[in-house]
Amino acid sequence: QGGRRTLPKAGQQLSFEEIGGQERAKQELIEALDFLVKPDEIMKFGIRPLKGILLTGPPGTGKTLLAKAAAQYTNSIYVAASGSEFVEMYVGVGAGRIRDLFKEARQKATKAGKSSAVIFIDEIDVIGGKRDGGQHREYDQTLNQLLTEMDGIYTTDSPRILLIAATNRKEMLDSALIRPGRFDRHIQVDLPDKKGRRHILDIHAKNKPLDEDVSLERIAEESFGFSGAQLESVMNEAAIYAMRDDNENVMQQHLSMAIDKVMMGEKTDREATK
Ligand code: ATP
Repeated sequence: QGGRRTLPKAGQQLSFEEIGGQERAKQELIEALDFLVKPDEIMKFGIRPLKGILLTGPPGTGKTLLAKAAAQYTNSIYVAASGSEFVEMYVGVGAGRIRDLFKEARQKATKAGKSSAVIFIDEIDVIGGKRDGGQHREYDQTLNQLLTEMDGIYTTDSPRILLIAATNRKEMLDSALIRPGRFDRHIQVDLPDKKGRRHILDIHAKNKPLDEDVSLERIAEESFGFSGAQLESVMNEAAIYAMRDDNENVMQQHLSMAIDKVMMGEKTDREATK
C-alpha cells in the first residue's frame, strides 16, 4: 500500500484529519480559530477578543495534537511548554520563563515570516492553580506574569499569539484565569466513543501490516474506556507481538493480547500508586 504514513513527530506539521474522533472538539476549536484569525471583523463588530483557548479532559485524549493542528490550520509557528517547567525554587524565575516563552514565540514567528504563533501550555493547573493567600508566592508571580502576557496579546505588535492551554483538572484553576477576557473558550476533550476509537485505530494502523481477517471494529468495541494514547499503545504492542511470533502480519489475537496488556498496565500503575 503506497498510502501508508506514520503520524508526524513532535514539532512536525499535523492536521486535524490525523486526529481520530473528537469531532465536536475539532469543530469548536476551528470555530474559535476562525474567530481569532479575523481581528478586523472582531473590531468591526466590537466583539471582545478571545485571549486564550482552554482544552480540558482526561490524559492522552489528543489535546496536544489539537494544539499542533491549530498551529498548522492558522499557519502559525508552534511553541510548547508544560506548567511544571515554570516551577522553580527561586522567586521570579518562573515569571521570567513565561516572559521568555512569549518572546521566543514572537521571535520564531518573525524569523519564519509568519504572522502568528501558537503557544501551547500543557498542565496549566500547575501554574494556574487557585491562589491561596500567600502560601506559594513564586507560583503567584508566574501566574501574574501569564495574566500580564495575556492582557498584552492584542496590544503588542504582530506576530500575534494564539494561546492554547490544557488541563485535566479544570476545577483547580484560579478564577482569574477562566474569567471572561482570559481563557474564556473552554473545549472539552473527552474519551473517544466507539466510532472515535475506530477512527483512532485506523489512523495508527496505517503504517502496520494487518492481516486481512483483522476486525478493527471489534477492537474498537473491546477497548471501551480507552484513550487515544492507549489505543496507539494497543496498535504498537500488537505489532510487537506479531514480530515476536515471526508473523508477517498483525493478527486479531495480537490485538486482543495487546488490549489486555494495556489494560493490565494501567491496573499495575494504579496499584503502584495506591
Ligand atoms: P496529556 O493530558 O497527558 O498531555 P493529551 O490529551 O495532550 O495528553 P496527546 O499528547 O495529544 O494527549 O496524545 C498522546 C498520543 O496519543 C498522541 O501522540 C497520539 O499518538 C495518541 N492519540 C491521542 N489521542 C488521539 C487521537 N484523538 N487521534 C489519534 N491519536 C491520538
